[in-house]
Amino acid sequence: MSVLVAGGAGYIGSHAVHQLLDQGKQPVVIDNLRTGHKASLPKGAVFYEGDIRDREFMKSVFRRKRIKQVLMFAAHSLVGESMEKPLEYYDNNVFGTQVLLETMVEFGVRDIVFSSTAAVYGEPAEVPIKENAPTMPESPYGETKLGMENMMKWSGTAHGLRYVSLRYFNVAGARLNGRVGEDHRPETHLVPIILQAALGQREAITIFGDDYPTRDGTCIRDYVHVEDLISAHLQALDYLQKGGSSDVFNLGSNEGFSVKEMIETARQVTGRDIPEQRGERRPGDPARLIASSEKAKKVLGWEPKRTDVENIIRDAWNWHRKNPQGYGGI
Ligand code: UDP
Repeated sequence: MSVLVAGGAGYIGSHAVHQLLDQGKQPVVIDNLRTGHKASLPKGAVFYEGDIRDREFMKSVFRRKRIKQVLMFAAHSLVGESMEKPLEYYDNNVFGTQVLLETMVEFGVRDIVFSSTAAVYGEPAEVPIKENAPTMPESPYGETKLGMENMMKWSGTAHGLRYVSLRYFNVAGARLNGRVGEDHRPETHLVPIILQAALGQREAITIFGDDYPTRDGTCIRDYVHVEDLISAHLQALDYLQKGGSSDVFNLGSNEGFSVKEMIETARQVTGRDIPEQRGERRPGDPARLIASSEKAKKVLGWEPKRTDVENIIRDAWNWHRKNPQGYGGI
């Protein structure tokens, strides 16, 4: 019995593939390699290159492999890009999920664990954010993820599909062995950009706004280690397998760190000089996003082990130092 990993060659999906193999499970990876890297996959992983929007491709995979459960990571995931290309986000994210769910229903596959986002909440009225906070996305990205969650909900009502939606806060870090990590082209995320500046690959890290109503004026985010994030996915698969009902969980650390604090921590962890410069605010950035993850702990039994900003930056640094060209150097 196999677990389909849609988007399994991406940053987060590839960590899932490695952990599934660690647990003796059989991942079947599909990825269109638009942003994913084949080199992130372990040797011997079953991999089909193709697009989730391609109905015939999806059917061919479900025909060839006996899929028991699905992990869904295949999506565009950048707030800023989604503001510029909303229709691309609807096409890839919403239509792509539609085809995946249609295929699951056709082949009688019931369980899906879905990668959602804190962006479904918009600017929160209070932090830490609980799962029952109002969902008011402020970007096409957040809106499409909420639409995908709702599509699963209604497919559950009509077709018996069961889902766990995991709303990620800021994911960073890398696998401990330094062989799997974050490599986006172009890179837009804070932690890898700070570390590229530490490596001298960038002149400086630009701080997007220092006039927010926060303790040092820079945006506050809640950082979760990618390996802990994936543990929650595997626990969610078990939860569904045991008959757990469809639900939504936040994944974060219950603690917030500012952009300046992240840069300072990176200076300490790397021992490098990391020049910073002040830039304009980035449209769509809420001042503060902090998760309450109590529900995931209580219901799924989630216990984050490496979620601490020093560990996160240390593990990411290990990857960046060993792979300064990312997967391009492998
Ligand atoms: N950020 C920044 N400079 C950068 C990249 C990000 O100041 O070069 C800030 C960004 O404004 C946000 C935080 O770092 O407040 C995290 O951004 P990221 O893109 O990593 O994740 P997001 O919060 O958008 O999911």
